[in-house]
Amino acid sequence: MGCPTETEFKTEHDIQKITTNIDENNVIKESRNKMSTDRLRYFGHLIGGLKSVLYSRFLAKTPRPFTFSHMVTNKCNCDCDFCFWKYHTNEEELTLPEIQKLYAQAKKEGFMNSILWGGEPLLRQDFTEIAKASHDNGMYTKMATNGWYLSENHEFGNYTDLAFVSIDAIGEKHDIIRGNRFGLYDRAINGIDFHKKHYPKMRIYICATVSTVNDAQSITDIAKLCKDMDILLYFTINKSNQDFAEWSGFDKLKQLERDENQLAELARHIKTLKHSGYPIRNSDYFLDYLIEKKNYYECHWPQAAMVFYSNGDLLKCYDRQPVSNLNVRKMSLGDIIKSEEFINIANQCKDCKLACVGNYALDCSGLWRFDWPAIKSIAQIAIT
Ligand code: SF4
Ligand code: SF4
Repeated sequence: MGCPTETEFKTEHDIQKITTNIDENNVIKESRNKMSTDRLRYFGHLIGGLKSVLYSRFLAKTPRPFTFSHMVTNKCNCDCDFCFWKYHTNEEELTLPEIQKLYAQAKKEGFMNSILWGGEPLLRQDFTEIAKASHDNGMYTKMATNGWYLSENHEFGNYTDLAFVSIDAIGEKHDIIRGNRFGLYDRAINGIDFHKKHYPKMRIYICATVSTVNDAQSITDIAKLCKDMDILLYFTINKSNQDFAEWSGFDKLKQLERDENQLAELARHIKTLKHSGYPIRNSDYFLDYLIEKKNYYECHWPQAAMVFYSNGDLLKCYDRQPVSNLNVRKMSLGDIIKSEEFINIANQCKDCKLACVGNYALDCSGLWRFDWPAIKSIAQIAIT
């Protein structure tokens, strides 16, 4: 799907009126990210996740994933060079009733949290109902968006605990990176502002991709933006691996990749910003891995998380291939989890050499192995 036309571009909110945490008398307001009773819910989910890990590792000895990751659509109105997902051209999507049934099964199987993504999830007009189904089945519900439709398709904010909005650079530079030159940055910022006002309980993260298009200064600029807007910031890393070489889009990804020395420098810079009070939520464990130029860790992400393509196929992360035998239309989620094929896929992860640093795989794997630096730095993030 192409970018929206210029005539479709309309902002509901003046970019100059971004809400900051400073009131009209120049007094700093209480941060929207402070610890609250609502946030304690999150700890229930963390503890539930820990119980699942312990059960899976020491009792059942089979995977018992607790994170439900769902590409609700593969359609998108951007064209990012680093995107793998745009090459997944299956147009089919699970219907809302199928999704509602699936999320009820996820509850039964003990999933604690969900991440709803795409493509651009807000292109689905029923996205609010999808988020509601996740929320009503007790999952701590997160979503990831490019921000274009935040203001107009906004009611998901009633049922979403946390939204990741992609911002890779300030202003027009971001629009160029994302292949949407019709004012994506302004729309995303205005959309964040809208959600801060109307859905104060929803945590908002800017998710910024580190690649050759940003340097220390642009990273600092994004950190300042988040601090001024009183929202949180998470960096993902554009890092390929020779094993991706056969994948569509590999060449573009490779061009955007920082080498390990540059990455180590930028990670050091991000860590300095974080410890100077900028609202950066990457763990020190994650940043130290990059600073120390490590290239391998034993991954356990597929034992903790199940990922589904929009048509209901299970996604195998180490080759991004759909597993069409394990489709939620053909069998229940419980039967997929118990199947030999799924158990093999999940257990093969520890032999994976890709060492992803673009999502939570590194942190999650550190927790899985009870690696003390991982526990310490993730606990620090959880309580702040
Ligand atoms: S916004 Fe996301 S899904 Fe869309 S092209 Fe960019 S990376 Fe891909
Ligand atoms: S490192 Fe982990 S998350 Fe990444 S592809 Fe390998 S098994 Fe999957």
